[in-house]
Amino acid sequence: MSEDDAVRATNDDAASCKRAAVQLGYWKDPYINYFMRASERKAPEINRGFYVRVRGVHSLLKQFLEITKCQGQIVNLGAGFDTTYWNLKDENLAPKSFIEVDFQGITAQKMYYIQHRKHLLDKLTADQVDVQISSTDLHAGQYHIVAADLRNVGELKKKLGECGVDFNLPTCFLTECVLVYMPPEASEALLRWIPEHFKSAFFVNYEQVNMGDRFGKVMIDNLRARGCGLPGVQYCQNLESQKQRFLSTGWTSADAINMVDVYRSLPQSDVQSFNPPPILVDLGIELFSHYCMVWACCRPPLGLDLVIYK
Ligand code: SAM
Repeated sequence: MSEDDAVRATNDDAASCKRAAVQLGYWKDPYINYFMRASERKAPEINRGFYVRVRGVHSLLKQFLEITKCQGQIVNLGAGFDTTYWNLKDENLAPKSFIEVDFQGITAQKMYYIQHRKHLLDKLTADQVDVQISSTDLHAGQYHIVAADLRNVGELKKKLGECGVDFNLPTCFLTECVLVYMPPEASEALLRWIPEHFKSAFFVNYEQVNMGDRFGKVMIDNLRARGCGLPGVQYCQNLESQKQRFLSTGWTSADAINMVDVYRSLPQSDVQSFNPPPILVDLGIELFSHYCMVWACCRPPLGLDLVIYK
């Protein structure tokens, strides 16, 4: 298995964890089963971890959509089988443009599923938009899926151009466990490119942190055992280094929060329905402390900033 295959395998892992949690009712997502058919049960702390991740990311995305009155753009980098667009569309919250980018092998699989699931195709054509679909790319009105290697900013720029991206519109970029799999110089080039080219940009990043301790090492071994770990991955050491990677690449503000704090900031009524026995609470907290959310802004419209948790 090549290194890139191991990175692509992280998508199957994320999608199957999301599917398993949705199946147990942690949150509603009527689309994930179109992209990930069956899923074995996951440990309760994994389910809760994905629940907190999805709630945290959506809180920030929804604020961006509110701030921009759905007239901005969302670019999901390393989107994998993410279903956010489909769910936002159902809530009448889809932005002016929603673009997903991933390796060709992943977008080709996504394209296959879209072409072979009538419900998905019908959704795309419901607005009478012209749907252009190739073996790897899709352009359907406001929704685009394109294949590009994020380590190559030139290729990304070309693909975003094919989606009609507007550099003058407020644009929110999202990465969930993606930057960490890129060489640091490549992720730095990507982060630097955005504020240089977009008039007003937001960034939401969800990622591992504090991986140097004993629990972190066990997590890395588990990832490798599931075929989706890479030797030599350089994790950000702490929340400060997560913020600094943005502040040192042209972003004007950056905040970072540990997922333990996101978990604690969720409405208690939500969390209580999944309350596990105390021993599993501890295990969950240990796991959450190794993930974080970072959000950064560059020239946000009227000084509006995102906050967690609203
Ligand atoms: N964001 C999705 C989610 O949360 O469900 C998928 C997350 S998965 C952990 C990471 C994704 O990033 C994979 O789909 C992988 O193919 C993609 N990725 C990582 N490095 C990439 C690169 N250099 N170019 C394009 N995609 C990349």
